[in-house]
This record gives sequence, C-alpha cells and structure tokens, in this order.
Amino acid sequence: MERARGAQDRWWGAAPSERATAIEAIADEVDRHVEELAQTANEETHLGMPRLTGEVARTTFQLRMFAGALRAGSILNAQSEASVPGPPPQGHPAITRRYVPIGVVAIFGASNFPFAFGVVGGDTASALAAGCAVVVKEHPGHPRLSQRLLTLARSALASIEAPEDLVGSVAGIQEGIELVGAPGVRAVGFTGSLAAGRALHDVAARRPDPIPFFGELSSLNPVVITPEAARTRSEEIAAGFVESMTLGAGQFCTKPAVLIAPTSAGLAEKAIALLEGLPGMTLLTPDIAARYYQGIATFVGRPELKVSSSSTTSDGQVTATIIESTLEEFLNPDSPVRHECFGPSAVIVTYEDPRQALEVLNIDEGVLVGCVHGVDGEEIAADFLHALERRAGRVVWNGWPTGVAVAGAQMHGGPWPASTQSVHTSVGLNAVYRFARPVALQDWPSWVEV
Ligand code: NAP
Repeated sequence: MERARGAQDRWWGAAPSERATAIEAIADEVDRHVEELAQTANEETHLGMPRLTGEVARTTFQLRMFAGALRAGSILNAQSEASVPGPPPQGHPAITRRYVPIGVVAIFGASNFPFAFGVVGGDTASALAAGCAVVVKEHPGHPRLSQRLLTLARSALASIEAPEDLVGSVAGIQEGIELVGAPGVRAVGFTGSLAAGRALHDVAARRPDPIPFFGELSSLNPVVITPEAARTRSEEIAAGFVESMTLGAGQFCTKPAVLIAPTSAGLAEKAIALLEGLPGMTLLTPDIAARYYQGIATFVGRPELKVSSSSTTSDGQVTATIIESTLEEFLNPDSPVRHECFGPSAVIVTYEDPRQALEVLNIDEGVLVGCVHGVDGEEIAADFLHALERRAGRVVWNGWPTGVAVAGAQMHGGPWPASTQSVHTSVGLNAVYRFARPVALQDWPSWVEV
C-alpha cells in the first residue's frame, strides 16, 4: 500500500496522454505474450485456448479503448461556466468542474474471466484511465497467470518510465479483507459472487472512513419468449438457449438462468434432448464444482421442481441440468430456484397466459441482463421489454445474454443484487467515472495550472 500510494502521488497530475501511453504499453506487452498467457490460463482454468486467446484480445482491446478515449478527449472532460455578475441565484463565480483520480483502488477479479476481469482487466483499465494506482487481489483460481500479468504490466510501466507500482497485488482471502480496510485505499472494484461481494462491501462500509464499493455480483438473468416467437421458431430458440447456458460450462454471470416460455412450445423437452448429446464439463475449480453439486442438490426431491439430471459423472465432470419450476414456486423468494447456481444449469418456467410471464418479469430484484425473443410489432413483446428495462442493466432483443460487447456505450451492472451501485457500469467507457472524483474549482487563479 505504501508503494501504491507513492506511485499514486507521483502519477497524480499525469496528463491524459501520459495515462494513455501507460495503458497502451501494458496492452502491447500483453499482446506480445498471448500464446504463453493463454496457455498458463488454460492450465489453471480449463477454459480452452480459443476462448482464452479471444479473452486476451478482448482485454487489450478494452485497454486501448480507454487509451483512445483519453487521447480523443471523450472522457473525463472538465465543464466550465464563466462568472455571472450580480446577486445570486443568477449571479455566480466562475466554476470549472474537473475530475481528479479518486486514489488507490483495490480490485478483485472473478474466477471465470482470468483476463477480462483479472489483473489488467476492465477495472484496472478504467482505474488507470482515471489516473489511479491499483492493488489487485489475485484470484486463487489462476495465481500463476495473475503473477505473470503483474510482471508484464509492471515491466511495461517501467519501460516508459511510469511508476511500476501503479499496479501491485496481494493474495489470500484475509489479505483481501485487509486490503479493503487498508488506509489509503479510496475505492474498491469487485467482480464475483453475491456472498463475497456482500462481505467485502460491508468491510468497506464499516471503515472509519467508508469508501465506495463497486461490486459486480451475480444475477438470475431472465429470457422470455413471446407466444409468436414460440410458435414460429421454438427449435431455433431451444438450440440458442442450450448454447448460451452451457457456454464456458455455464460459468458466466450473464448466463440465461431462467427461461420463461409458453407451455405449448415444449421448450423444456427440446432443451433437455439437446443437453443429452453434450459431454461432461470441467468447471474452473474443484470448489466451484462442489458448489454446483450442492446447488443442484437443493432442487432435487421438491415436488414443485423437475430436475433433468443429477449433475454428476463418474470422472468428476459435471453435466448440464434443466430445472423445470412451477410459476408459483419461482415467485416464492425463498425457493432454491431464486439463488444463482453457478455452472451449466438453468430454470424453465412456463406460462399459459402472457400476464403470468409479466408477473415473473416484474419480480422486485435486479438483474445484469434480460432478453426478449419476439416478433416485430408484437404488443406483448413491448410490455416484456419495458418490464425488463425496470430491472436490468442491459436488455437484449432477439439475442442471448452471454457475451458483453466491449463498446463505449455499454452498461454492465444493474440494481441489487446484480451490483452494489446500479448507477455505474464495469464495462464501457463510463466505467472510468467510478474512479474519478469530480471537484469544482471556484475562481481558480489563472496562474495556477489545472
Ligand atoms: P468469488 O468466490 O466471490 O471470488 C471473488 C473474489 O472474492 C476472490 O478473490 C475471492 O478470494 C474473494 N472472496 C470470496 N469470498 C470472500 C469472503 N468471504 N471474504 C473476502 N473475500 C472473499 O467469485 P468467483 O468464484 O471468483 O466467481 C464466480 C462468481 O462471480 C459468480 O457468482 C458469478 O456470477 C460472478 N461474476 C460476476 C460478474 C459480473 O460482472 N457481475 C462477472 C464474473 C463473475 P478467495 O477465493 O481467496 O476467497
């Protein structure tokens, strides 16, 4: 922390172009080692080389997106108002509102995105763009990769004579808790489970000097199918649903967790038939696999639920599982189907009347993303979209929730429990505003440089 604070002090007044150069140096260094990094990540996570090399590309693209925005002056712009003579309220002094770095940021990445939410992932990119130093809590799911990324980032910074302590790290659960409580940490960017996010959020809030905690947590992402879509393309929807729920062995915060469809479409049978052809899947860590088994076990033996598989295979892999739930059961906030089961599982709820689907969509609980599959001009589709807009950080028309595009306008977050701060995002250019503090400069003397 002392070294991070020293780096923060040295870097405080770095111009946007200097920050951009530092971010680009890190991106270039990571790109020079794609094969090696993806290989290490694959050994630690089993996510597969195509997915991991793609994730490196996404991560360096994201770094360069922030660097480009800094150079173009499209983020963190000051807003100035000349003085207005006369008495208030019309009259006022000259005011310039500008952004300064919030200070050292503690960052926690998740197991399932070793690069995009790792040591040089989106939180680090946006904090560096804001001019902050970061201390990353390394994820125990990929410790060697975290160390390697740290070394590359620091040597990239050193190569352009920026302070290498702008990026540091700690490891260990207790160290992570101490990091959130450490004097000098001014904000936390967290990506992970609801339980860990809540625990660390509370540590941040209990500090003598509470600090903002930007937690991206878990979510039961709904996908709703309109009667017309179900009538005209149920096979295609079943295939898309199975592909999305099993992508990365279902280990995405954006997994389609609940499918709401007309009973007549028979989507549960169609999806289960498709799952039967799939091989067993290896999850990120034995702990995550154990939690998946425990999650599936909470559904078994309940008359309101029908579980398609026991989730185990002989070789320690897991199988994808569909849980068919009655509407009433899903509306019960205490039901196990209302908790995230991280891995390749999803709940299917069917409806006879679209108003029942709206009841499910109107549950008072935030989600990261919600999707509507419908047909253009279908009135109920518009009602579904509006219902989701009230609850979700992102709403998708005729698409699937997995795959958060890295684009300037992106929003990744949502009302609790999807995130701890529904007005902020962790993906997209606005992510930088989590770590930049606005300050109003009143009648600032022209001879002092801003
Ligand atoms: P996790 O178990 O919550 O771990 C995240 C971090 O929190 C790790 O560094 C972990 O360290 C630490 N941690 C866990 N429990 C803690 C506690 N009680 N006190 C202090 N620190 C604690 O999550 P994960 O397994 O890495 O990732 C899967 C979860 O993340 C899923 O729920 C998924 O939906 C969510 N996720 C969300 C997003 C998003 O953008 N919203 C993206 C990806 C994943 P230790 O392991 O050392 O304890």
